[in-house]
Amino acid sequence: MKTVSILGVPIHPHTYDSWLDHIATWIQAADRLYHVCTVNPEFVIIAQSDPGFYRVLCQADACLADGTGLFLASRWLKRPLPSRVTGSDGVPKLAERAAHEGWRLFLLGAASGVADQAAAKLQVVHPALQIVGTYAGSPADTEAEAILAMVNASGADVLLVAYGAPKQDLWIAQHRDQLQVKVAMGVGGSFDFIAGVIPRAPRWMRRLGIEWLFRLLRQPSRWRRMLRLPTFVLAVLRYGEHPTPKLSKHLNI
Ligand code: UDP
Repeated sequence: MKTVSILGVPIHPHTYDSWLDHIATWIQAADRLYHVCTVNPEFVIIAQSDPGFYRVLCQADACLADGTGLFLASRWLKRPLPSRVTGSDGVPKLAERAAHEGWRLFLLGAASGVADQAAAKLQVVHPALQIVGTYAGSPADTEAEAILAMVNASGADVLLVAYGAPKQDLWIAQHRDQLQVKVAMGVGGSFDFIAGVIPRAPRWMRRLGIEWLFRLLRQPSRWRRMLRLPTFVLAVLRYGEHPTPKLSKHLNI
C-alpha cells in the first residue's frame, strides 16, 4: 500500500474496511507481530523531535489517519487520504469483526477499571466477542515482565494498548519480540470513550472535525498538548511531505 508522507511520517490510505481486512490477513498469516498506530497531528509533531518514535511510526505496518488534521493535510498536499480511521470508532468496529471471526482481544492500559468497563460494554453489544484479558498496568519497565506474561498466557490475537502517545507505540515496539499476539495497536483514549468515562464530542462537532476542541473544553489541562495543533499546521504549510529541519538533523539527512 503506497503511503502518504506528512512531515516525513508515512500514513496508510486505509478505510475502516481495508484496515480490518488487513488485520484478518495478518491474523491468518500469524508469522510475526503486526503493529498498528492511530496517528494524529500530535504524533507527527512529537516525532519531529523524537527520532526513536519517528522510526517506530515508519516501521509500523499501518499508520492510520486518526486526526482530522492529517486528513486535511493530505488534501492540501494533493494526496488525499480516503477517510479518517480513528481509534475511538475503530475499536468498536474491530470488536464487531472480532466477534464474527473469533479473534481474541486483550485490552491493556487506561486508568484502573476502565478497560474492564470498556470490555463489558463491548460484550453487551457483541455477546460472541472473546475478550481474554484486561489490565490497566503502566508502560514502566518494572511492569513489563508481568504484563508480557499475562498477555501471552491469555492467547490473545489482538492486543489494544491505551497508554497514550508516544508511550503506547514505543512500548509495543520495545516488546514486539516478546509479545506472542499477532496484532498490537495503540488506541489512545478509546477505552475511556467506550467505557463512558469521558464523553465523546457531539456528532456535529465530530463531523466538523473539531473533536479536539470538545476535549480541550472538558479537560483544559490539555491546552499545552493542543499547542501542537497550530505547530502542525504551520509545519505542513512550510515543509509538506518532508520532515522538518529538526527531524532531518536528528536523522542526519
Ligand atoms: N494512560 C495510561 N498510562 C499512562 C498514560 C496514559 O493508562 O502512563 C492512558 C490514559 O488513562 C488514557 C489513555 O492512556 O486512557 C490515553 O489518553 P490520551 O487522552 O492521552 O489519549 P489520546 O486519545 O489523546 O491519544
